[in-house]
Amino acid sequence: MANQPVKYIFVTGGVMSGLGKGITAASLAKLFKSRNFKVNLQKCDPYLNVDAGTLNPKEHGECFVTKDGAETDLDLGHYERFIDQELTQSSSVMAGRVILKVIQDERAGKYEGDDVQIIPHLTRAIQEYFLEASRGFEIQIIEIGGTVGDYESLSFLESIREFGFKVGRENCLYVHLVHVPFLNTSQELKTKPAQNSVRELRSIGIFPDVLVARSDHQITQPIKDKLALFSGLKLDSILSLPDAKSIYEVPITIEESGIMPVIFQKLQIKNKKSDLDDWKKMLTKINKKFDQTVKVAIFAKYLDNNDTYISVLEALKAAAWYNQVNLSFQMIDASKYDQDANSNNLKKLFNNFDGIIVPGGFGVRGLEGKIKAARYALENNVPYLGLCLGMQMAVIAAARNAGLDQATSFELNDQSKYQVISTMNDQLDKMMTGGTMRLGDYNCHVLDQTLAKKLYRQSDIIERHRHRGECNQVFVNEYEKWGIKASGFNLDSNLVEIIEGINHPFFLASQFHPELKSRPNRPHPFFVGFIKSLINNKK
Ligand code: GLN
Repeated sequence: MANQPVKYIFVTGGVMSGLGKGITAASLAKLFKSRNFKVNLQKCDPYLNVDAGTLNPKEHGECFVTKDGAETDLDLGHYERFIDQELTQSSSVMAGRVILKVIQDERAGKYEGDDVQIIPHLTRAIQEYFLEASRGFEIQIIEIGGTVGDYESLSFLESIREFGFKVGRENCLYVHLVHVPFLNTSQELKTKPAQNSVRELRSIGIFPDVLVARSDHQITQPIKDKLALFSGLKLDSILSLPDAKSIYEVPITIEESGIMPVIFQKLQIKNKKSDLDDWKKMLTKINKKFDQTVKVAIFAKYLDNNDTYISVLEALKAAAWYNQVNLSFQMIDASKYDQDANSNNLKKLFNNFDGIIVPGGFGVRGLEGKIKAARYALENNVPYLGLCLGMQMAVIAAARNAGLDQATSFELNDQSKYQVISTMNDQLDKMMTGGTMRLGDYNCHVLDQTLAKKLYRQSDIIERHRHRGECNQVFVNEYEKWGIKASGFNLDSNLVEIIEGINHPFFLASQFHPELKSRPNRPHPFFVGFIKSLINNKK
């Protein structure tokens, strides 16, 4: 697309949240990428937070971390998994970040006496983020968080409206998702909420180019006609997206709907042939029922929704598809075992599972329970995968198992001399502050003759981080006595990145988050190895 201007696609949502704007945006990006376009994705969130790092995972779900250390909304995880491309800070725009920038500019005198206003200053600042993120790309897909009609999203919506005029309507496409509910009592689909939402969008000056009808039912022709009529769109611009069995089916549904040629025409670019062979191969695996099922216990803290551990779950699923087994997992509330001194209860629990995962987390609740889970795995040769906090708890478990009963971490006891997991000095007074953890990509050198090396099949890797705690260097020499060894180190700081069990079928844990770099069709080696060990454990 030499000399072509960048084409921008905005994805908005109406009626209610949770319709799948993120998956739709990611799927569209996948379809452009499958045609060899250079595509980027961006998420705008109306929260006044500067980033997602300080949001409670209980309500907001996982905080996804990019390679350059941005703490972002979980949709960026979907984006990366769909297009298999590492994103950066510029892909995540939270309202607080933009407002902070405007206020900092005002203080720096950059507005030269102007009254600083939402329109045009804030809206222009938002547009600068669109422009910056799209540099070097041909297609920029931008998801606007929240629901049209919310007071909160107005600045973003006004921004995208103005932007269409600035870059030219032929360089801009508005995709609007609406919910079309099915009423069981009368057995019919209802379009009224969708009608209201399109009216709302129009009232702020945005005329959708594509309307996506989300429903738990296939949209019938009369309903499509109705949607086309009131939205002023041709029938070919209405896309029906019924609930999918797997989110990874959505790109194929969109491709097969025939909407892509319409999008190309509206954006005045030439369509290309898509190559979705690999993706389709992956889908056949996803839809297959295998003979064997592996059962994983996830010893977790945030149990209100699975979104909190979405990258972990997607990495596990991908590894199960890769190993051709069915996955069954259960979230276990680790805090239930904090006080529980009866090891028979753990034994009873783990009798139902083939392996244990302790994922990342913050705060004290559930830590003792997680230590017990890791210790159980270590003592009983049960496969264990520890992710960040899961590694820290594994080190404590090994120390206690070897007789150092006081072994603890900075989170459990900030005064103890026996912090086998401690913080770096520069973290001491920053516990609740935003953007101050060890974040993003760091290198790791993997030692020879280790499980980690066997899985990676290379010595130097880069993985993503989000933590304050580290293996306390004072105790690293004790590890072998504790039945574990450090198998990966950061070359610049000498910090421990990976530990593993000695003479254990699979006891592996990392200070980084391997789940963040896992892909549905290219699972992370740690997860592949973990699932394999569960299969072997059964034999
Ligand atoms: N709370 C621990 C730390 O800050 C672990 C963090 C995590 O699991 N992401 O080091």
